[in-house]
Amino acid sequence: MKIGAPKEIEPGESRVAMTPDSAAQLQKLGYDCAIESGAGEAAGFTDAAYEAAGVEVVKTAAALWKGVDIVAKVRPPTEAEAKSLNEGQLLISFFYPGSNEALMELARGKGANVIAMDMVPRISRAQKMDALSSMANIAGYRAVIEAGNNFGRFFTGQVTAAGKVPPAKVLVVGAGVAGLAAIGTATSLGAITYAFDVRPEVAEQIESMGAEFVFLEFSDDELPDGAETGGYAAPSSPEFQAKQLEKFREIAPDMDIVITTALIPNRPAPLLWTKDMVESMKPGSVIVDLAAERGGNCELTQKDQRIVSDNGVVIIGYTDFPSRMAAQSSTLYSTNIRHMMADLTPEKDGQVVHNMEDDVIRGATIVHQGEITFPPPPPKVA
Ligand code: NAD
Repeated sequence: MKIGAPKEIEPGESRVAMTPDSAAQLQKLGYDCAIESGAGEAAGFTDAAYEAAGVEVVKTAAALWKGVDIVAKVRPPTEAEAKSLNEGQLLISFFYPGSNEALMELARGKGANVIAMDMVPRISRAQKMDALSSMANIAGYRAVIEAGNNFGRFFTGQVTAAGKVPPAKVLVVGAGVAGLAAIGTATSLGAITYAFDVRPEVAEQIESMGAEFVFLEFSDDELPDGAETGGYAAPSSPEFQAKQLEKFREIAPDMDIVITTALIPNRPAPLLWTKDMVESMKPGSVIVDLAAERGGNCELTQKDQRIVSDNGVVIIGYTDFPSRMAAQSSTLYSTNIRHMMADLTPEKDGQVVHNMEDDVIRGATIVHQGEITFPPPPPKVA
């Protein structure tokens, strides 16, 4: 069978779902590989590099979609892309099926099968295919780099002949995958880093990354329990929220950089950094809101924009951090895809075995043999 990656057509998207290295691995699984000409260019992978790796470079998107059995993509397909799917063809890409029902229906009508990389179950065995985590890791890192680029001072404290420089104080709100990456990056640059999460079980992880956990005075049995929600956060009680905002209000004037990453599955992002908190921050401080896609954790965030508040605080609401590091994110994403392909190819003979008894494959499959198979049943194993 042949697997191919088209050029991403979403404006500003620089990632690609296949690199010369991942193609070499896919060939070891028995597949022929194809790429649309120029698809890897924005991520630093030339047509010549693909050719050298034995990948067929196809001139047009139409020829690519028509000529392969498996299409690997980053972004969910556009309507036109979904319409160009063929009977029996397999599409593997981010899809967000909960908000893309019409696209799923289109793919079903075309007789295609679809694996959504954002639906890979978050169980240990599937970590190597967990594209949400690999992209969140990059977003967390890049958020700190972006903050540093907008902050007019050092992160690390210094004693120099020209004077003593205090270290920057960074607060990370939400310590999931992106938040922990942000903590690690900020501490490695020498900042004093604080972090908060509604899941008290992450305190240890926060501290092991070198940050200080911001504790609230709240009795344990009133805390939301992440263990009951598969590791994800549940909405907090109004009392807890009030305590949290009170604490943030208290520390806001002292923070130089705030990175917010707080999300609750299937809900808008919780509002945690209010206008008055921004107003109490020092001019030149920076907020990077990684929850901007889902409405933002900061009241003043504008999606995909960099704005400066009246009191001189920079607020960044970009939603394309992984694409801003396209070489790294394409490398990790294409590795996630080739691990998925390895599980789909038990005999390493270039033939897909779409085993719906396999928890991971079943969980990620949203369209299969003429049926919509989303949402999946909960995984049986951890
Ligand atoms: P996410 O992107 O859904 O949320 C980011 C963080 O925001 C979470 O830590 C959440 O607790 C926090 N949050 C929500 N509301 C908040 C609030 N009001 N104030 C402060 N923080 C708030 O999370 P994620 O990065 O996808 O990770 C979720 C969990 O899944 C984590 O426990 C992570 O370790 C786990 N995980 C497991 C696997 C695996 O086992 N394969 C893979 C990835 C992630």
